[in-house]
Amino acid sequence: MAAHFALLIDPAASDDARDDFAATFTVLDPSAPALSISELSTQRGDGVFESIGVVHAHPQEVGAHLERLAHSALLCDLPAPHLEQWRQAVARAAAACGAGESVIKLILSRGVEHGPAPTAWVTAAVAADNSVARAHGVRVVTLDRGIDAGAADRAPWLLLGAKTLSYAVNMAALREAHRRGADDAVFVSSDGVVLEAPTASVVLRLGDRFVTPAVASGILHGTTQISLFEHLAVQGHRTAYETVPVRTLQQADAAWLLSSVRLAAPITAVDGVALPVDRELTASVNDYLLSPRD
Ligand code: PLP
Repeated sequence: MAAHFALLIDPAASDDARDDFAATFTVLDPSAPALSISELSTQRGDGVFESIGVVHAHPQEVGAHLERLAHSALLCDLPAPHLEQWRQAVARAAAACGAGESVIKLILSRGVEHGPAPTAWVTAAVAADNSVARAHGVRVVTLDRGIDAGAADRAPWLLLGAKTLSYAVNMAALREAHRRGADDAVFVSSDGVVLEAPTASVVLRLGDRFVTPAVASGILHGTTQISLFEHLAVQGHRTAYETVPVRTLQQADAAWLLSSVRLAAPITAVDGVALPVDRELTASVNDYLLSPRD
């Protein structure tokens, strides 16, 4: 959905000690052109971003999203974002959100070619209606990511653990999934290990344990998955990060795709083979994910 609020940020140095960063923000008309034609985010996808779920104007897990923004910036050799400045920008965007679900996007770009500083901005938009995926689930196909599970260590320049603006591959995977008659994809390493979905983390229930692929295999560490694991642990469930072979996904007792805006979408089929769906557990997970979380 189109943004209804946009705020340009003049990035502060990481040692800037002021309390109030309002003077570094410029409210933009979200429907008007705002970026330079020389922006490296648009020319090369050279930048990092975050999408924060917002429920009734409450932005969820802001701290975890800002930490991941800083981690992505570090992996991309971008200047460290000033977390308090970004926190205040998120609060401004959240104040522009109404009842219901919204999404706030944070973008930190390398900036204008030969320019002096990175470009940064925040937007707010009404979220798409995800109720069908939450209630009825998604059919997934596994897609080869073309790299083995050790690539992240061996080739850090692939930026596998960073949430970069270069999502063309992720969008191509979704189109391929649709071509194959599925709703979504799960990337698999060339050595047969489950990684993540193009815009979501994968969580499986194996007996009485909840398992997600180990982050060392070069996937994004999902804020929704982290939050769910904390919740499950409080409820006395066992959780683990593991190497997950594809056949384990195909034989799971239940599995979900988890992300900040769609939240928990139960996987109903993997490569055309049905997977059990725990509707009651899924509903309670989504109730938790829709409750205010910090
Ligand atoms: N993995 C990828 C590749 C993603 O793009 C996303 C979300 O955008 C996730 C995992 C899930 O992350 P989060 O739960 O923080 O939204």
